Amino acid sequence: MSKTNTAAQEPKWVQRLLDWYDVNKRDLPWRGVGDPYKIWVSEVMSQQTRIEAMKPYYDNWMQLFPTVEALAEASEDEVVHAWQGLGYYSRARNLRLGVQEVVSNYGGVVPMDRKSMESLKGVGAYTAGAVLSMAYNLPEVAVDGNVLRIYARLYNINDDILGAVGKKKITALVEETLPHDRPGDFNQSLMDFGSSLCIPKSPRCSDCPINSSCEAYANGTTADLPVRIKKTKSITIPLVVGLVQLGDYYLLHKRPNTGLLRSMWEFPSAEASDFSAGESQLKDLLGALGFELKLDSTMVRELTHVFSHRKWEMKTYQGTLIWRGSDAEQIAAIQTKLPADYMLLPRLEFATYTWAGPHGKLTELCK
Ligand code: SF4
Repeated sequence: MSKTNTAAQEPKWVQRLLDWYDVNKRDLPWRGVGDPYKIWVSEVMSQQTRIEAMKPYYDNWMQLFPTVEALAEASEDEVVHAWQGLGYYSRARNLRLGVQEVVSNYGGVVPMDRKSMESLKGVGAYTAGAVLSMAYNLPEVAVDGNVLRIYARLYNINDDILGAVGKKKITALVEETLPHDRPGDFNQSLMDFGSSLCIPKSPRCSDCPINSSCEAYANGTTADLPVRIKKTKSITIPLVVGLVQLGDYYLLHKRPNTGLLRSMWEFPSAEASDFSAGESQLKDLLGALGFELKLDSTMVRELTHVFSHRKWEMKTYQGTLIWRGSDAEQIAAIQTKLPADYMLLPRLEFATYTWAGPHGKLTELCK
């Protein structure tokens, strides 16, 4: 459990931030209900996604899986399907596994201590702190990028907030300043404050209720903080994608069951920076399956999709397939000759499958 300060030790800005929060807090469905499961789901969903964008997913999720038991009983496919559009699918899989542990090891009650919380699949220090403080009002800190940024500015900290030293220093400060009576509200006030005023670029310092306590504001360094030194460079992968049809059926590929976007469906694609190289690679790929490919040379959609360490630059083309076997063969017969990770599917059935990230956006181009 985190060490908390007493009211007498509390820096003045803490109460001012709480006062600001009391007036300006966002009205969110998982707030004020004291339900650790709802808070847990909301925290996992809101990592990498803005609250406004994730709210419809949250509402849909709670319709499908309103309790830990409902989620624990759901299949991985159902869970990943409900997550579709939020990206980083391992979070959904881990959430399901973590909840299954709660049901099997804790009688369906989300644990009330940090050690047990952090032992659950997919639960790190931040999520544990957020759930424990917001659901049970326990004095636990929840330090994420938002909090690191705010404290780096408030205390004019020049250490890299992505490095161990910077994180440790700031976590110690958050523990020191965490108010003993309202830890859950304090953590939520930091979330709201960081998304509305102390925002990543151009913080709104003149409207800030705690600017008189902010060292970066006093020193004129708000634009330089926080310091973030990225270690891994993202790789850019050019992809030529084919929306290729045999009559009314599209050819789809299921990604491998390990790695990026695992076990999800995508349109056939080839790593190539231009149309002609991509076309010839796709021809080879589909030729090995028994198809002849005619790809239109006009690009129908250009998309960029950013993962944590790689970026897809996608160029999409439409095309038609010709089956090299007998003309008389029906789709069902052709299907039996394809490898298990390929299928022919009419547009009307797309909604029942889980799409590999940006490939879902390409479905709107299909008839
Ligand atoms: S004064 Fe500006 S930089 Fe400092 S805490 Fe407020 S919004 Fe953030």
